[in-house]
Amino acid sequence: MSASTANSMHLAYIGFGSNIGDRLKHLQNAIHALSKTEGINLQEISSIYKTDPVGYEAQGQFLNGVAAIQTSLSPLSLLQTLKDIETAIGRQHRIRWGPREIDLDILIYGDLRIQTEKLVVPHPEMHLRDFVLVPLVEIAPDLVHPVFQESIQTLLERLEDDKSVIRTTSVLCSGPT
Ligand code: AMP
Repeated sequence: MSASTANSMHLAYIGFGSNIGDRLKHLQNAIHALSKTEGINLQEISSIYKTDPVGYEAQGQFLNGVAAIQTSLSPLSLLQTLKDIETAIGRQHRIRWGPREIDLDILIYGDLRIQTEKLVVPHPEMHLRDFVLVPLVEIAPDLVHPVFQESIQTLLERLEDDKSVIRTTSVLCSGPT
């Protein structure tokens, strides 16, 4: 890769989750789609965690994880890509916080801070969620949160969320299912 190409790549972290249907297959399809997207290089995928729902609790458990990517896409293009993948996998729009086939979020994009109507980065709730911080600590414990200027490990230690987050033995790969 030439130096100029390398300079235009940004390290970003994507959170993913599913709590309807064949949850693991939805996650696998999302990772596969990400890996096939031009401008995205998948770097690392966390383990998959079985987690309690947050917000609207009368719904099934989620499978959650996070992925590290290098991307040449702008934050808004990356957001649109994630939405397109959600639609392709069959996400239906239901109530906010409610059950979903697939949810893809931009957690962190380099050290950018973005606050627009469409996009807030770092994700405004990531530091409040065990289901984000636990898998993120697995792959990037020393990553510094661009707003709080603290490591992910420290943010997790501070968190008083008592939701259950249990590591599973499931493994996602970037190849086809
Ligand atoms: P969700 O229900 O999690 O899919 O999110 C709904 C909306 O949140 C999306 O349509 C986005 O425009 C908006 N949004 C704001 N910040 C983010 C972010 N960091 N990652 C993903 N979606 C975001």
